[in-house]
Amino acid sequence: MRSPLTPCKLHADNDMSTPRPSLPRHLPLRLPRICVAVVGTNPGEMIEKAEALSRENPFIEFRLDYLSKPALILPGLKKFLEYHSHVIAIATCRRAANGGKFRGTVQGEVDILVKAAAAGCQIVDLSLESAAKLKPGEVEKLRTKAGLILSYHDFRGTKNLEKTFERMQQYPADFIKIVSTATCLYDNVTMMKFLEHTSDNRSMVGVCMGEQGIISRVLGVRAGSQFTFAAATVGEETAPGQIAARTLRETYRIEQVDNATRVYGVAGDPVSHSLSPLLMNTAFRREAINAVYLSLHAKSIKDLIACARDIPLHGISVTMPYKEEIIKHLDNTDPVTAKIGACNTVIRSQDGKLYGFNTDVFGVLRPLEARIAIKDAAILVLGAGGAARAAVFGLRERGANVYVMNRTASAGQRLAKQAKAKYLGKSQLKPLMKKMQFQVVINATSVGMDDPGKPMKNSKDTPLSEAELKMTGARYLMEMVYAPAETKLMKIARAMGMDIISGAEMFVHQGARQFEIWTGKPAPAEDMHRVVVTALASRAAAAAGKK
Ligand code: NAP
Repeated sequence: MRSPLTPCKLHADNDMSTPRPSLPRHLPLRLPRICVAVVGTNPGEMIEKAEALSRENPFIEFRLDYLSKPALILPGLKKFLEYHSHVIAIATCRRAANGGKFRGTVQGEVDILVKAAAAGCQIVDLSLESAAKLKPGEVEKLRTKAGLILSYHDFRGTKNLEKTFERMQQYPADFIKIVSTATCLYDNVTMMKFLEHTSDNRSMVGVCMGEQGIISRVLGVRAGSQFTFAAATVGEETAPGQIAARTLRETYRIEQVDNATRVYGVAGDPVSHSLSPLLMNTAFRREAINAVYLSLHAKSIKDLIACARDIPLHGISVTMPYKEEIIKHLDNTDPVTAKIGACNTVIRSQDGKLYGFNTDVFGVLRPLEARIAIKDAAILVLGAGGAARAAVFGLRERGANVYVMNRTASAGQRLAKQAKAKYLGKSQLKPLMKKMQFQVVINATSVGMDDPGKPMKNSKDTPLSEAELKMTGARYLMEMVYAPAETKLMKIARAMGMDIISGAEMFVHQGARQFEIWTGKPAPAEDMHRVVVTALASRAAAAAGKK
């Protein structure tokens, strides 16, 4: 028999219209913040997964609706829970009509939940839609068997939270769980404001699904959600946008998130491939800074700015396609950023004002100045987009002799003129190299980069041919592309004996500068470099495995 846990404060606090009958098994005073959803195609697999998870994750949701015959797991579940007396278990058997996989009737759902409670699950989850179909008194009866989560899922948006809450209030429940879908970043703010005021009187669980719901998945617990749901591993998500438990714990440090935690993020569209959350969360953890850094898939700049003001976000890393557009929404920028016309770093001051910087400049200058004297160095920059602009203006400020080459000549010529650099057409390379040679070639084009949706798709191209690269006479190749970690251009340059400055090195330095701007402290650049290189290597291995 399982040993009873400490009585649950939540039940005593809940001001229910009907008095709470005593629970057969009690809940702890504080539930863990992460509940891991376990799925499986058969009972054995589900129990095996729970076994593997239970040491790190004492709070598990058994998604019984994933089993074709949920009743078959009950003896194994009973044994598992008797043996793992520290595990707090939720049983869920959500019907297909309500977003789950169970094909049976409402009564069938209730029967399974009652039996799961008898097997030792301390909590059961019943959908609002199922509760509405039961006879008066039946929900209360179910609640005599276990703690009850009354849940509602909206797969289309984050609307009418208050109205749904009012409907749910009619039923006796220990937890009210509302799961909506984030169609923009601001939906997270709506969910968290809702949680803030409803959680004073009720035990709430609230989260937004979808890639854009990440803010609520990490910050919902400080807004009043009793806990949040996580996937057992990547690929085992039971809801769109669910994050793996280990990532929530180790990258986002959800157990430590509190009201003082500062929130940062990388904003772009798309952004799911970004390594910035790994980079910056590593730095915050290493330096013991109470901060969390999220991936913010912003479909519009307006949405991003509204979140920056209301969450509030203390800092934003801005990436494609918003580096230029964001400038007009800022209160001020530093002079170099204004010249470049692109901002990749925003800091929110105490009075709420937003200031912009460009740390891509540091990403280029720091690795170079560690190797050469930049003043008067002859440097060829390939590209005329945002990254090239940062490189060209930064290098010109330091007195380098900069040449710009770009596929679209007019854009390259414009940049060269603005930065007082020189424009070089490909056909002019050979004659020029009879008179001089470059010290450094910088690839600031996106040629060679993996398409985020289709890794390895574009990675066979190079912005210069082998013969052209050789002709430059340069000793160093600086490659801005960092995914893949080794571009074809890098391979060619390495084979020629050139020294390489990788895109990962630049990426770490631009991130390190952001860290310094936001925290006023030196960044742990070595640790940051290590995690990025490791992550790129495992991505490359995964991509190679898929080929
Ligand atoms: P962007 O503004 O879109 O500019 C893209 C540049 O690449 C343009 O000059 C474009 O030339 C050129 N280009 C694109 N496709 C081409 C092709 N098939 N052949 C020749 N040229 C081509 O992008 P960005 O923000 O400057 O970023 C450029 C690269 O730098 C990206 O790979 C980005 O990931 C990387 N980056 C890395 C870091 C880092 O920390 N390592 C930081 C920032 C950026 P046209 O003018 O002719 O279109």
